[in-house]
Amino acid sequence: MRNNQPTERVSEHDMANVLDVSGFELADGRTIAVKMDWLPGNVLAGRLLQLAHDATCGLFTTVRGLETNADHDDHIHLDLGCHGQSCTAQICE
Ligand SMILES: [Zn+2]
Repeated sequence: MRNNQPTERVSEHDMANVLDVSGFELADGRTIAVKMDWLPGNVLAGRLLQLAHDATCGLFTTVRGLETNADHDDHIHLDLGCHGQSCTAQICE
């Protein structure tokens, strides 16, 4: 089931093939929350989140940031799902 719609195909979430990253805790104890700090106004934390998003695009086959859709408004979605006939296509958005 995808997006809670029974007619859609099985998602990578259903197969436990996903990392949903909602934030980071830094070594000094500060936290960075994707939902709050992704905003452009938060320059340092927002830049770190954008760098983390962009860096994972080459490592996972699917990377979805907050601009993707309402289902991804509080996390960076990472998975190793198959895209394309050879399963080598990548989605980075
Ligand atoms: Zn997700």
